[in-house]
Amino acid sequence: MFETLPHPKPDAILAQMAPFKVDTRPDKMNLGVGVYMNDKGETIILDSVKEAERRLLEQETTKTYVGLAGDVAYNEAMKEIVFGDAAPAGRVYGLQAPGGSGSLRVLAELMARMRPNAKVWVSTPTWPNHYALLKTGNIEIAEYPYFDPETCSVDFDAMTAKLRTLGSDDVVILHGCCHNPTGANLSPAQWDEVAEIAVETGFLPFFDIAYQGFGDGLEEDAYGVRKFASTVKEMLVAVSCSKNFGIYRDRVGCAFVMGGTEETATLANENIQNIARGMYSMPPDHGASVVRIIWQDPELRQQWMDELKTMCTRMTSLRNLLAESFRKQGGGDRFDFVAVHRGMFSLLGLTPEQVDKLRQDHAIYMIGDSRVNIAGMQEQNIDRFVAAVLEVTQ
Ligand code: PMP
Repeated sequence: MFETLPHPKPDAILAQMAPFKVDTRPDKMNLGVGVYMNDKGETIILDSVKEAERRLLEQETTKTYVGLAGDVAYNEAMKEIVFGDAAPAGRVYGLQAPGGSGSLRVLAELMARMRPNAKVWVSTPTWPNHYALLKTGNIEIAEYPYFDPETCSVDFDAMTAKLRTLGSDDVVILHGCCHNPTGANLSPAQWDEVAEIAVETGFLPFFDIAYQGFGDGLEEDAYGVRKFASTVKEMLVAVSCSKNFGIYRDRVGCAFVMGGTEETATLANENIQNIARGMYSMPPDHGASVVRIIWQDPELRQQWMDELKTMCTRMTSLRNLLAESFRKQGGGDRFDFVAVHRGMFSLLGLTPEQVDKLRQDHAIYMIGDSRVNIAGMQEQNIDRFVAAVLEVTQ
């Protein structure tokens, strides 16, 4: 029967890892794959994570199942990290899930149970895997305007004009911070406005927050989620710890439901646990325990926050250096947006041909839509990168 299977379309992001590996040019640059790298191009394990793992190894007494919701103390820790003080008492429940992806999937199933004919709206563009993770049953996926390629910033007027036309059968995916792939984000005032629109129209906000702490800081990056938590009645939030704890392969995430009342929140919580049961039953525990141990210990928490800040500061300073180098090398202010963008990614606004040329002529690898991983750069190769971009765009 297997011969009847279709060939799935290769994942654009994963597909370019292989050619990079076999490229023998010594100055090749990997700006494709979405993992944080330090100034030596390595994706290391954070010291706070290593220490928590040591403690876990010593303290762990059982490998029995953790329960349907996962580790309740981990869910509590995640609630504090993401919601701060903004979670309305008794109305928010978390479910430990395998990564941000697993969280998105569980919540997508919940959405389909509540609203079998819902339309779910993603930004143009969005993380491509959103389409696969959100597609279920009769759910239709549609796009709202987000990125203006002319200015490389958010087209807020077009975005809000579309959102104002939605209603209670619509679900809107919002990147909590550090938009992937564009790097262009909403300001606090713009979040306030979108929250008001959610209240007026009744659409269901569905946050995806995968880079908290990679933008302007751990608290600052949660502004949107927290604003919504104190403004709207109901919402969904999918969280990933892959990036900010650097525990990608451990698969750590959390799916949150916020209900309008304690009863409806409990009902939604019963449903996400039931959905998880039918999908993978119980989440993997190791990475979530690490996050819990770090958050519960004041010293480890501080160490993690310092390490997160180091990652964040490195990306912001690379952004400033990039914009500076573009100006210095005759690119004018055209690329200033790189310094305004936040998070690991920026969409440079290059054509697929220009992206190909960068790979062929300069051994610079980025995603076909011209998304670059800022963390993949090193200070010493910024000028070379900028010269290459200017060469292919002029
Ligand atoms: N959402 C966004 C926007 C992402 O970029 C990612 C990771 N690339 C995720 C969710 C999911 O991350 P993970 O499943 O690895 O935790």
